[in-house]
Amino acid sequence: MKFAGKLTPLRLIKLFNIMACIFCKIINGEIPAQVVYEDDSTMAFLDINPHSFGHTLVMPKKHFVNFEDTPGDVLAATMMTVKKVGRSLKDNLGVSGYNVYENNDPVAGQIIPHLHFHVIPRHENDGLEFWPQLKYGVGEAEAILSKIKIN
Ligand code: 5GP
Ligand code: ZN
Repeated sequence: MKFAGKLTPLRLIKLFNIMACIFCKIINGEIPAQVVYEDDSTMAFLDINPHSFGHTLVMPKKHFVNFEDTPGDVLAATMMTVKKVGRSLKDNLGVSGYNVYENNDPVAGQIIPHLHFHVIPRHENDGLEFWPQLKYGVGEAEAILSKIKIN
């Protein structure tokens, strides 16, 4: 990664994080991975501990920590790779569908702080059940909406 200009404390921290990042090491070829797809700006490889066989991680080659950290054009390129991987899973593994998710920040389960999307092949009755479903009480949905509505 090239840094133009002054090496500020913030940039030093970022440089350290990149040097310690296991996904950057895979992207740079320092750690092996089973690469599903690669282009100039993105990479996809098999998750080492898959939820189902074919579970693929898709990420930008440049180090960004999370969703908000990542510029729109990089996100768009990453999503195009997610789409290619999804197509390959359907065409070549015969899966009937797949989940796409991203754990954004540690509280949401993000362990590796380099943005990545999980693409999980799904089969009929595969038993992968993810989330509970709640019900709003009277007025609760409106209260939440008034806080998060974007004008
Ligand atoms: P997160 O919880 O950060 O969204 O997901 C990290 C994922 O990376 C996990 O599913 C984990 O199995 C996978 N992973 C962690 N270390 C490695 C590794 O060295 N190689 C590969 N291929 N996957 C990894
Ligand atoms: Zn990284």
